[in-house]
Amino acid sequence: FVSAKTELYRQAAVQNKDPPSLSPQNGARSVKVPSFSTPYAKSVSFNKTEDEEEERDGIKGIDKKLVEIIENEIMSTKKTMKWDEIAGLKTAKEAINYAVIAPMKRPDLFTGIRSAPKGVLLFGPPGTGKTLIGKCIASQAGATFFSISASSMTSKWIGEGEKLVKVLFTLAQRKAPSVVFVDEIDSLLSARTDGEHDASRRIKTEFLVQLDGCRESEDGKTVLLIGATNRPECLDEAARRRLTRRLYIPLPCDDARRQIINDLLKDQQHTLRSKDFNALVKGTEGYSGADLNTLCREAALMPMKDISLDDLEVGQMPAIDVEHFKSALALVRPSVEKSEIVRYEEFQKKFGC
Ligand code: ADP
Repeated sequence: FVSAKTELYRQAAVQNKDPPSLSPQNGARSVKVPSFSTPYAKSVSFNKTEDEEEERDGIKGIDKKLVEIIENEIMSTKKTMKWDEIAGLKTAKEAINYAVIAPMKRPDLFTGIRSAPKGVLLFGPPGTGKTLIGKCIASQAGATFFSISASSMTSKWIGEGEKLVKVLFTLAQRKAPSVVFVDEIDSLLSARTDGEHDASRRIKTEFLVQLDGCRESEDGKTVLLIGATNRPECLDEAARRRLTRRLYIPLPCDDARRQIINDLLKDQQHTLRSKDFNALVKGTEGYSGADLNTLCREAALMPMKDISLDDLEVGQMPAIDVEHFKSALALVRPSVEKSEIVRYEEFQKKFGC
């Protein structure tokens, strides 16, 4: 009976339906299945001791090795991060501040329709600061940060993916408030195809089941899922429905590019003047934050090419000049195509909020 119910519960999660109400079978007591957000263990009144024990211990019966892996590789040690470390993105930052961080900080004030969203989707070109935003939300909300790439769930953790997802959410709940940041979420929650691998399907099912049962910890603290993707159109309807705040993270505007370049050069010797910066900002239109990072690194290496390292003292590094940037610009091209931007803007118009 229990496994039949679990199966129905899972199917409902995958098919994006309400959970089923079961009638008694084989003399079992009638069990009213409560709302989707109630963890399964709480709804079953028989086999009480085991359920109560699991509830009390949180991770009882779960592979301790996986807990260790998550704590070492997925859960990040606290690093304080401020919004001004992320250039541009004023609209997204504002929306996140009042609609996500404030309710996470004060769940007692932000209740009902004011409560924190269940999930946030950050979509846009690669290298535009989605991961930085995830970290910053966790830091600003005083939350534990878990970061995993969806593709590693299906490749790196072969055979362990389902268990990993389970332990991940259990830990997130225990260490709430938490942010679970899933990069490339499209590869986990994409519209299903006929050729979909069985293992991936099982991980996806487990992910949805855990997500629906793990909105918050028992003391009301938030467990927030942040999904990042550069293929938002691949997400299925079930995923979109759960990621209620969908924010476009575009390529950096002029001012943002200026800030990123400035920040990258601030501790370097250079001879760039204001007019050179202006030209650089203009010449890097279409570059992502990550592209700018690569560009500045390349420019910074240029003056090192023709000198003997033996003669060089620390603190006497040659200055980076305009010519170095010109050469670097010829080598480092923007990684995002214009046609991709159209895709994001269309998704933004249709589903962004
Ligand atoms: P994404 O998750 O969108 O692929 P990341 O957040 O991982 O991109 O950013 C990659 C790198 O690019 C960052 O470590 C940072 O050096 C740089 N970067 C990207 N966007 C920004 C931004 N808005 N402000 C400052 N640096 C940025």
